[in-house]
Amino acid sequence: MTDPLWDRDMADAALRRVYEAARPYLDSLADRPVYDPDTAALLAELSGGPGVSPRPSDGGLPEHGDGADAVTERLLRIGTAAATHSAGPRFFHFVIGGVTPAALAADWTAALLDQNAAFRASSPLAAELERIALRWLRQLFGLPEVYGATLVPSATFANFTSLAVATHWWAEQHDVDVAADGLAALPRMPVLSGGYVHASARKALQMLGHGRDTVEVYAADRVGRADLPAIERRLAELSGPAVLIGNAGEVNAGDFDRIAVLADLAERYGAWLHVDGAFGLFAAVSPRTAGLVEGIDRADSIAGDAHKWLNVPYESGFAFLREPTRLPATFGMPGTAYLPGPGSPLGSGPGAARPGSARSVQPPLPDGPVDYALYGPESSRRARAMPIWATLAAYGRDGHRLMVERQLDLAQRLARLVDEAPDLERLAEVPLCIVCFRAAPRHVPADELDELNRRLGAALLDDGRVYVGTTVYDGRVALRPAIVNWRTTEADIDLLVDVVRELVARLAPAPPSAGASAR
Ligand SMILES: *Cc1c(COP(=O)(O)O)cnc(C)c1O
Repeated sequence: MTDPLWDRDMADAALRRVYEAARPYLDSLADRPVYDPDTAALLAELSGGPGVSPRPSDGGLPEHGDGADAVTERLLRIGTAAATHSAGPRFFHFVIGGVTPAALAADWTAALLDQNAAFRASSPLAAELERIALRWLRQLFGLPEVYGATLVPSATFANFTSLAVATHWWAEQHDVDVAADGLAALPRMPVLSGGYVHASARKALQMLGHGRDTVEVYAADRVGRADLPAIERRLAELSGPAVLIGNAGEVNAGDFDRIAVLADLAERYGAWLHVDGAFGLFAAVSPRTAGLVEGIDRADSIAGDAHKWLNVPYESGFAFLREPTRLPATFGMPGTAYLPGPGSPLGSGPGAARPGSARSVQPPLPDGPVDYALYGPESSRRARAMPIWATLAAYGRDGHRLMVERQLDLAQRLARLVDEAPDLERLAEVPLCIVCFRAAPRHVPADELDELNRRLGAALLDDGRVYVGTTVYDGRVALRPAIVNWRTTEADIDLLVDVVRELVARLAPAPPSAGASAR
C-alpha cells in the first residue's frame, strides 16, 4: 500500500475542495441563519458515521485513515452546515467580529507557510511581519512611538502579558526579581479598578498567582462606573506601589472609564496604569470617538484584540507597553543553550545574566525584528501577524476608519429603532458599538421583565436568525448586541429589531385590552 501522505493528487484535491467551498459559503453568510440547530446531528459523524474505511464502533481513532480528500470533504460538509456562522453579519452575541477578505487570504497563507514566529532564526519573515504589523497598529491607534508591543492569542493573554509586566515592575519597587524568585517574599500586590473590570483581567491575576479576588473594585453605582474619589483615597492610603486597571470599552454597554483621570492618578501616586481596551481601543480609529480613550497614551500597558474590531481571524490579541524592554525582562528564558541568549539583540540577553539588582537598567530595544518568543508568554507561535499585516496593508487607515464608523452608525441606528419601538426600552447611552436594551411591553408587570428577557435571550438563540446574548445591567436582565463585523448592514440591524419584537410578541402576547397599562 502506498503511503497516503505522499499522494500528491489527493493533497491537491483536498486544497481544491477548500477553495471551491469558500465562495458559496461566504456568499451564503448574508442570508443564512447564524446557527441551524438541525445540524447538531452532523457532529456525530466527526467521530463515526459513514467513512471510506471501517471505523471503530466506539468512535475511537481510526486504524486506517480515509485520506486527505475524503476527510476534507467530510469536514467541509459538516463544518459549513454545523458551524456557528459568526463570520457573518448577524452574530451580535459577545464582541466577535468577522474576517476581512485580505485577512482571510493571509491566514490561509500563514497555514501554507507554517512559520514558527518564535525567533528571527525560526522565521525572519514572521518576525519582520510582526514588527511592521505592530508598528501599524500603534499608528492606527495614534499611540506615541515609545510604545512597543507583542502579539498574543487574545485580550485575555494581553491582560495576562500586561499584568505580568506590571507584576515585574511592582516587585522591582520591592527589590525583588519576581521572574527569578517568584512572589513568595512579597506582600499582596494592590490592584484597583472600577466596576467595569473584565473577567479576563481577573483570570490573568488568577494565573499570575495574585488571585482573582485581589482586585479592589471601587464602583460608584450598580452599573459599575468607577468611583474615582474612592480610588484616589485608596491610592493615598497605600504605602507602596499599586496597579490600576482602566477599562476602555466595557462589555454591557460599551462605556469607558475616564482614562485621562486614571492616568493623572497613576502619575500622582506612582501607580502602574493598565488599560483593557480589547475592543474599546478601536474608538481611537475614528475622530468621532477618539475622545473616549483620551489619556490612553499615558498608560503603562494596553491590552487589545485584533480578532474583534480589526476583523482578522482568531487568535489575535496584542499588548502595548510604554517600556517594551520590560517584556523580555518578564518573559525571557535565559540560560537555555539552544535559544537566543547572550549575543541576542538585547545585549546580554533578556535577563541572561542575573542582574545585580532588580532595578538594573533595561537594554534598548533593537531596531529590527526581535525574538518575540522572549517578549510574551508563548514560545512557539503561529505567524498571526500575517492577517493583521495584510488587512492593514490592503485597506489602510482609511478603510479601517470607515469600517469602524459604519458600525458606529449602525449602533446609532439600532438605538433609534429601539427608542421608537413601544415594546423595547434602551437602558444605556451608546458611546460605541454596543446597544443595551430590554423588552418591556406595557402590559407586562415590571417584576416579570427579567424573566421575560431571559426567555427572550434563549428564544433568540433557538431561533437563530440573529444571535444576541443577555446580561444583567443595572440590576436588570437585558440584551447587549455588539456590532463589530464588517459584513453587517442596515438590513441586518432592522432584522435584529424585527426578530426581537416578533419573539417578544410570541412570549408575552398582549391581552385583548392591551391599551390599558398594567404598570
Ligand atoms: C473580549 C474582551 C476580553 C477578552 O478577550 P478574549 O479575546 O476573549 O480573550 C477582555 N476584555 C474585554 C473588555 C473584552 O471585551
